[in-house]
Amino acid sequence: MDAVKRRITYRLYPTAAQHQLMLEFLRLHCELYNAAIQERRDAWKLCGISITKADQEKQLVAVKEARPELIPLGGHALQETLRRVDLAFQAFFRRVQAGQTPGFPRFKSWKRFSGWTYKSTSNWRFFPGEKKHGALELDGIGRLRMRGEPRQLGETKTLTISYKRGRWQASIVVACVPEREHGTAGIGFDWGIERFLTFDDGTGVENPRFLRKSERKLKALGRTVSRKKRGSKNRKKAVAKLGRQHERIANRREDFLHRQSAELEGRAVLLATEKLATKNMTHSARGTVESPGKNVRQKAGLNKSILDGAPSAFLGMVRYKAVEAGIALVEAPTRMIKPSQTCPACGRQQKKTLAERVHRCACGCVLPRDQASAQVCLHFALSQGPGTGPRVEWAPPHKH
Ligand SMILES: [Zn+2]
Repeated sequence: MDAVKRRITYRLYPTAAQHQLMLEFLRLHCELYNAAIQERRDAWKLCGISITKADQEKQLVAVKEARPELIPLGGHALQETLRRVDLAFQAFFRRVQAGQTPGFPRFKSWKRFSGWTYKSTSNWRFFPGEKKHGALELDGIGRLRMRGEPRQLGETKTLTISYKRGRWQASIVVACVPEREHGTAGIGFDWGIERFLTFDDGTGVENPRFLRKSERKLKALGRTVSRKKRGSKNRKKAVAKLGRQHERIANRREDFLHRQSAELEGRAVLLATEKLATKNMTHSARGTVESPGKNVRQKAGLNKSILDGAPSAFLGMVRYKAVEAGIALVEAPTRMIKPSQTCPACGRQQKKTLAERVHRCACGCVLPRDQASAQVCLHFALSQGPGTGPRVEWAPPHKH
């Protein structure tokens, strides 16, 4: 398999002195960004000339002579900041051309400046073996402690340093040939709102436990925000706290999806599920809300807010992990197969409302709805035969 690019993320733990130096880097990059914006705005407004990225890059030599403090930032990193300006202007001109009247790209406050990027391997070095999690050395700043556990390292390509909510992060792009172990089973799966995943054998993965707690906390923080006076310092603080909580949940969600998809991949040689239509998901969420029982309704509301988009994110992970592991993933076409309306035992089709959680067929087959649908998908995948994927011995279809 060919090498792929993969982004690995670490949290950085600079010393107090390093932190100050890094803030200084941030200010300088931001200053360069704003200067480049200014120059382009003036040229465009005063003379109708559009200055290119290449024009601005040429000036970097002179700029560095006049401002030697920019030198440790690294030439490539400075160019990358100019590229960010270029992207902003490209978007601006696209909108002009489309007949819109967009505002000029804006100046940024360094306090809101996201960070900088080394687009090559100069001016920084990565020591993955050092200490437990590795170390990162930046020219002009020194060796930084870091924390993070990538599944697989590779040849380093670029590095982005970002600063958000008082935290420093390093995001390293590596090229690697992915390695992934896989299992021997054929597994069908389906997702629901009440239970995250259901497999064809009836086992499954419950929704993560952190959901309920997170929802309560979000609600409480939201109330705190609305109690504080608009524009007050306390409100700002409360908003920041709420933002951090959202971020924390997003991270945990991603972590959960990664773990579940890796686990699934580790057991399977063939995976089958229903082709995911985003429309279907919202629909089924609504269906669950309408179904009787206070508990279910609450649960649906809770899960909808936090797990919105989770199935498509999950499927995305399953897809690329399947490629890495060299196993087959079959996404059954819904219209043709009708997984939720077909009996996995006899193939008879019968409509179910969204509230019907159990599959009952005249042939005597009774199964939880999601399990039945997972089986239908698996049977479809097996019927496609080895031609669709790698040549393996399929496990025989489940008998009921
Ligand atoms: Zn049947």
